[in-house]
Amino acid sequence: MSPHLARCLLSSLLLTAAAVGAEPEAPMKKETPVTPPTAPATVDAAKPLTEAAPAKPVMTEKPAEAAPAKPAAEGEMKKEAEKDPKEEDPEAVTITPFRSARLPVAKETRTFHLAKLNKPLAFETTRELQRLFVAFASQHVVDPATGGFAKAPGSMAAITYTIVQDLGENRFLAKGNWPALNGDPLLEGKDSFVVLLLDKPAEVGATGRCTGLHVGMVALGFTAKFAPLEGKKLTLRREAFLQCTPVDESNAALQKFVESIQKGAELSVITSERIACKPCGGLGFTREAQKGKIEDKRMPCKDCEGTGKVPLVTETKFAP
Ligand SMILES: [Zn+2]
Repeated sequence: MSPHLARCLLSSLLLTAAAVGAEPEAPMKKETPVTPPTAPATVDAAKPLTEAAPAKPVMTEKPAEAAPAKPAAEGEMKKEAEKDPKEEDPEAVTITPFRSARLPVAKETRTFHLAKLNKPLAFETTRELQRLFVAFASQHVVDPATGGFAKAPGSMAAITYTIVQDLGENRFLAKGNWPALNGDPLLEGKDSFVVLLLDKPAEVGATGRCTGLHVGMVALGFTAKFAPLEGKKLTLRREAFLQCTPVDESNAALQKFVESIQKGAELSVITSERIACKPCGGLGFTREAQKGKIEDKRMPCKDCEGTGKVPLVTETKFAP
């Protein structure tokens, strides 16, 4: 799905998160049963009146979808789940993220100046540009709204799926298969339930393939419409993916990438390299002089675990 849509989802999620966070009704709800201890039925009946008002508008405007954003605390999540079956319409679907996908965090930044390309002593070589573009393609998607590049809020994976239930608004509960993602704590999926946000409507039972942007794990509240859980209101934690168009690694795409930088697009890429370990000088061990012996004792280097190399995460910004 387009990053444009992802942004819409993000804002709708923040709305919901705000509603969850600023929930003054929660303590009040607990006090209510204390006053009329004799009639629990009335308390239950009164609940929807007090709570539905602030919660409903957010739900109807746009349910918290598979958006990559700050995950709500688990305690809040449980609170939501507890009151859902009582106050919500049985068909209502709620999707609340509680763990967004992890992206690498850069320790160093540098700038790749196109003007210095292949100049003496410059690190800006054609080869380096190609290497960085490959990494760029894995971290960006094509924004269908503009046709340009947009930062991917998660990692991409090829998914094959079978639709199990239509959750509305092109969101689906599906059974899917996908590979484990590097740099993302996502395990391989094998016939695993997953929440998909697809580009187009799909039929229950349909199978398909898509490139999915992993946006983290969500808590999903819905009423099952499949055997053997038919009619049951469920709360599940599932991986969520937005369908997206990946940036291909062709020369044409590289050309477009260079042109967008020349036009002033602010693009950057995060890469992880293994560089020589400083404490041991890249040897993987340190020496310690031994009394009366010609040879030093070799101690494995702790900083690099004896490999001589340490990972360095760098953000490279591009400039004309
Ligand atoms: Zn070392």
